[in-house]
Amino acid sequence: MLREVDLKDISDGRLYGSGDMVKADCKDCVGCSECCEGMGDSIIMDPYDVWRMTTGLGISFAELMTKGKIELGVVDGILLPHLCMSKEKDACVFLGDTGRCSIHPYRTGFCRLFPLGRYYDENGDYKYFLQVNECPKTDRAKIKIEKWMDTPYFKKYEGFIRTWHSITRNLADSLDESGDYELRKNLTMDLVKIFFIKPYSSEDFYPQFEERIKLWTRE
Ligand code: SF4
Ligand code: SF4
Repeated sequence: MLREVDLKDISDGRLYGSGDMVKADCKDCVGCSECCEGMGDSIIMDPYDVWRMTTGLGISFAELMTKGKIELGVVDGILLPHLCMSKEKDACVFLGDTGRCSIHPYRTGFCRLFPLGRYYDENGDYKYFLQVNECPKTDRAKIKIEKWMDTPYFKKYEGFIRTWHSITRNLADSLDESGDYELRKNLTMDLVKIFFIKPYSSEDFYPQFEERIKLWTRE
């Protein structure tokens, strides 16, 4: 989603492409779990995250909800899932007792991205930026962004991110313009049903996403 921020306040002032080297490598985050704690409802999931987590852990979206691992929240007027923080420790429910992620291969894109962020232009294309106020590791090494993200078929993944951004952006804009409460409710629920609740198979994500776009656009 688009957020109104002044890049110079939160970044090193540069925008990066996926092939660029950037000082993001926290060397396995040894001894730190700061970005897994106190994150509120900000670790938002997209359909790829839900596919990766539900098929990887063998658990449905509904079960993740009922077990208190994820919940739905309102972002720019639309409903999107996010990871839950535990009440006791105010830490991600997947953070293990040793301070390590218990679902590392299936962690969200947001978790993979940190301490990077995405900056979208008015055409919905994006670049990466390095957040300078968030990660306390001072000895981070340079790494190619594509490698840091640890996600296969990365160009395809970036295409998906652009498409998902455009779907959510367009919906948020159209809801902004509509005063029809019923329409707003139905559209936001349709998005959740089509892209999150409808179960994914462990087959390739991208054809499944394309099928859901057809449902969404009623092609
Ligand atoms: S704050 Fe930085 S070092 Fe700490 S867990 Fe997050 S990415 Fe790793
Ligand atoms: S899923 Fe893992 S990496 Fe992401 S916030 Fe939770 S514990 Fe941290």
